[in-house]
Amino acid sequence: MEDGFLRTTCGICQIGCGALVHLKKGKPVKIEGDPLHPLNKGKLCQKGYASLEYLYHPKRLTKPLKRIGARGQGKWVDISWDEALSIIADKFMEHKKAFGPESVAFIRGAAKGLQDSYLTRFANAFGSPNITSMAHVCFIPRYTASMITYGFYAIPDLDYPPKTIFVWGGNISDTLFHVYERLCTAVRKGACLIAVDPGSNRITKEAKIVVKPKPGTDLYLILAMLNVIIKEGLFDKNFVEQHTTGFQELVNHVSSYTPEQVSKITWIPADTIVRIARIYALNKPSAIQWGNGIDHTPDNFQTARAICILRAITGNLGIPGGDIQWKNPALIERGSAIFSLHDRIPPEVRAKRIIAGKTLPNQFYALPQALIEAMITYVPYPIKSCYIQGCNPLLTYPNPLKVRQALEAVDFLVVSDMFMTPTVSLADVVLPVATYLEFDSIVTAPYSLAVASIQQKAIRIGECRSDYEILKGLADRLGIANTFWSTEEECLDFILSPSSITFAQFRNIAVLEGRKIYRDDVQNTFPTPSGKVEIYSTTLESWGFPPLPEPSTGTEINNINQDDYPLILTSTKVGPYRHSGGRQITTLRNAHPLPRVIIHPDTARAFGISEGELVTIETRHGCITQKAFFDDDMHPCVILADFAWWFPERESDPMYGWDESNLNMLIHDDPPFGAELGTPRLRGIHCRIAKPSISIIR
Ligand code: SF4
Repeated sequence: MEDGFLRTTCGICQIGCGALVHLKKGKPVKIEGDPLHPLNKGKLCQKGYASLEYLYHPKRLTKPLKRIGARGQGKWVDISWDEALSIIADKFMEHKKAFGPESVAFIRGAAKGLQDSYLTRFANAFGSPNITSMAHVCFIPRYTASMITYGFYAIPDLDYPPKTIFVWGGNISDTLFHVYERLCTAVRKGACLIAVDPGSNRITKEAKIVVKPKPGTDLYLILAMLNVIIKEGLFDKNFVEQHTTGFQELVNHVSSYTPEQVSKITWIPADTIVRIARIYALNKPSAIQWGNGIDHTPDNFQTARAICILRAITGNLGIPGGDIQWKNPALIERGSAIFSLHDRIPPEVRAKRIIAGKTLPNQFYALPQALIEAMITYVPYPIKSCYIQGCNPLLTYPNPLKVRQALEAVDFLVVSDMFMTPTVSLADVVLPVATYLEFDSIVTAPYSLAVASIQQKAIRIGECRSDYEILKGLADRLGIANTFWSTEEECLDFILSPSSITFAQFRNIAVLEGRKIYRDDVQNTFPTPSGKVEIYSTTLESWGFPPLPEPSTGTEINNINQDDYPLILTSTKVGPYRHSGGRQITTLRNAHPLPRVIIHPDTARAFGISEGELVTIETRHGCITQKAFFDDDMHPCVILADFAWWFPERESDPMYGWDESNLNMLIHDDPPFGAELGTPRLRGIHCRIAKPSISIIR
């Protein structure tokens, strides 16, 4: 198309907002929200509006590169795609033959849509069980708990609207702006907003009631709410009797989690626990918008299970204005065996998947921290090659010094990315990947209304390729060509086949919408083995995991000298950025120029810190610097630090100041991990702050 506009879907984060790309002489010149898209209704967030800055950024990687200096030295030579793919295929085959397919590991970053599934399909077709992602710290804990408890992922019915809305552990005004807008509408219509968050953000400032639990103690708080609701008879007796299993076991289980006991652990006064439990149970319909904060402790799965049970016993599950099911548009499911090919891996090879201990048997990923360990120690076997797709683990994994050691230890490292990053700096071969404006796809939104929308190629920059094209090129050279369709569009046709349309037809339709399902629509049946909400999970019990939600023991919260580290660290993702991405985009950087730690002013004064000055944040594991900002709404014992900072503008440093303000330098990857999903503790870590010594200011 020469002039006009193209309907597409923003791919900078996983939300899937509809966008209109304006073209002049075939070139994108402007982007705006698609007013017809049901999710975002004409708006984009600041990241979305910066899409063309990403596209045309002068520092985009546009040609494949081969390293010619030492790792991390920043010396490269341009190579052709043919050479790049041949080098990779030869190395992968060499290692597969000598050490088995499991010696080739695959790492992918935060959710990007179908690209993630292409890599999974590729790894399974290649035969390696060692593909890892951020699943254990993002969404999957909540998703898995929901599936086990009631068989679907429930979404707040904000448009109805609810009378009570909890926002639990989520900075949604920054990370889910379309949900935030719906929430504001519900509040304008009278909904009571309750924020559960130890930090400070727009939601905590706008909420009617703010509850600030000690980071990492949310599970105790929910168990105490269940205790109150059961003791005071505030649960939905008919629903519990007819549509749940294991309620009596729950009654016994939560009896010791009294508000008074739990108050000592969570810092929340007992009368506040009673008050919010009563509001949630009585001021119905009530909905809980949960966030990624819940995923960041070893108790993530059990915390999510407890919230699922809270929704169910109060009768808020599946009702208008409560937390409801959405039926997705008819597509081939990305996680299905037919698409992911996870059944191609023989059981004896799957059993070699590198994890830490035992995790739920319905999980297929390798655990990042265990894989990193194996790269260094060769235990249980050597990891010889590693393919990293759109991920910056030096910034996003805990214990980055160890991550660097691991990435330097593998024989052969490939990274595909849009920009040079600290992780890319360690690669042997670098592959320049296309932005979302450069390839066709289908985007499904996982977190709210069930919508599938079109992503259309508007242009192609340099020699960049889509992940599909890269993996197809590799598959052709590895003897697994038949697992990929000859073009990306043929693959998209396959995904659309249950809807009986082709991708060419979808270009005109642009959006497929799912629909809400209230529990009355399905006669109160739930897609679980019993057909009921499984409060007491015999499935978990049969797998050897706690059938009712219970806190783990032996976490850092219990095992530290609090005089040395008197504060508690939690973290936040900042609106303009997606994880470690976006620091080189001028508009976004201007909106949030420097790493920031938010501190209560009284706490800062006690440590002799002034607003705006650089401070050190120190834990038992490491020390970084960020700039101090004050906020009266912070709990005086908690500090809130920015996540995933590096400095792409420091071009003379090939590692871009990767360890200076990087939150993960403060976080270790030692056990205990969450029993179900292997999650390490990322929040609720004891720390201290200070003015930096001269030597640490760089
Ligand atoms: S929320 Fe995500 S998908 Fe929507 S405009 Fe922002 S970056 Fe794009």
